[in-house]
Amino acid sequence: MDGHGRTTLTGTDANRRARERFVDRLEQAGLDVRIDAVGNIVGRWVPEGVDPSTAPVATGSHLDSVPVGGIFDGPLGVYGGLEAVRAIQESDRTPERPIDVVCFTEEEGQRFGNGLLGSSVATGQRSVDDALAFEADDGTTLADALDEIGFRGEGRIDAAEWDAWLELHPEQGTRLEEENATAGIVTNVTGITHCYLEVNGEADHAGSTPMPGRADALAAASEVVLDVEEAAKQLVDDESPSAVGTVGKAVVEPNATNVIPGQVRLGIDIRDVSADSISMLVDALEDSAQRVERERAVETTVSRPYDVPPEPMADRCRETLVDAGTATGLNTLLMHSGAAHDTMNVARVTDAGLLFAPSRDGISHNPREWTEWSDCAGATTVLAEGLARLAES
Ligand SMILES: [Zn+2]
Repeated sequence: MDGHGRTTLTGTDANRRARERFVDRLEQAGLDVRIDAVGNIVGRWVPEGVDPSTAPVATGSHLDSVPVGGIFDGPLGVYGGLEAVRAIQESDRTPERPIDVVCFTEEEGQRFGNGLLGSSVATGQRSVDDALAFEADDGTTLADALDEIGFRGEGRIDAAEWDAWLELHPEQGTRLEEENATAGIVTNVTGITHCYLEVNGEADHAGSTPMPGRADALAAASEVVLDVEEAAKQLVDDESPSAVGTVGKAVVEPNATNVIPGQVRLGIDIRDVSADSISMLVDALEDSAQRVERERAVETTVSRPYDVPPEPMADRCRETLVDAGTATGLNTLLMHSGAAHDTMNVARVTDAGLLFAPSRDGISHNPREWTEWSDCAGATTVLAEGLARLAES
């Protein structure tokens, strides 16, 4: 296999080794380490002369991965955060706040089925007990898995106590590479809506049923697929260049070459930085479903079970990162994020900012994921300057 793969699912032996190494590194840099009840790790640096009860500035990301993921998604933000603190320690800066370096548990949601798990607890959106009760496919609970690797601590890290938060993460897209920029400063994290469309027609013999009077669920669903694509393209042209609409899933019943399809279920993924344009695409989907009902002898139902609203990043953090880019002389770019990160949760309880490093060819969740070491260093330099500025105010 090409590249550098990494599999560190929450609570596995590989995850234990990744966590232990990180804790070692935090301690070597003189940070006080705390593990909370869901395994979130925080290393705190209290600069000399600073009151330890002052609200800290925090940074970090995650150490869990998808199966055979890349080596940068997560670790870049965790080790970039630690390196930023080390750089500030060695500089003549005078931070007036403690700085926390954080690793959230189960960001990818690969073993316990819930992404952004650790940050959802740290931001009070989910209780410790609910999180600990989540089960892996083999019936292991998060509580058992954390016990097994020695990372079930106590209490709850509370993100609302942070004065501000910054996360460094690979872009997982190609804009920075195209623009030859060292770091991307995120303005907005896109909202994500998942809709499901069920089309019910009539399964019949493909040979003996004449063309007039058929109720072909797949032919009807195909019109909806094209309508969703067209509506998204229109929206991009007319008002929102960042909008995307994808029919990524189709389940056809009975799915046999010689049978007219009786039922189709579609999974539709809609994202944008504006809640309005997400609603417009959902409306377009519903209009299309009604149209095929009128024009073809099928029945349709649309559901919208998954809805994460767009999350703007705090002006203060975004501006600080822009100033940090200018101060360090590195080329930065304002952009939105199409993927969800722990920062989305943190942004609900304190001022949050998100910084991207370039990803070669935009490849992610793959061993071929790559960020040039010089870009890792550049983006971390911007992060360090941003953290220092936030900690000085
Ligand atoms: Zn990630």
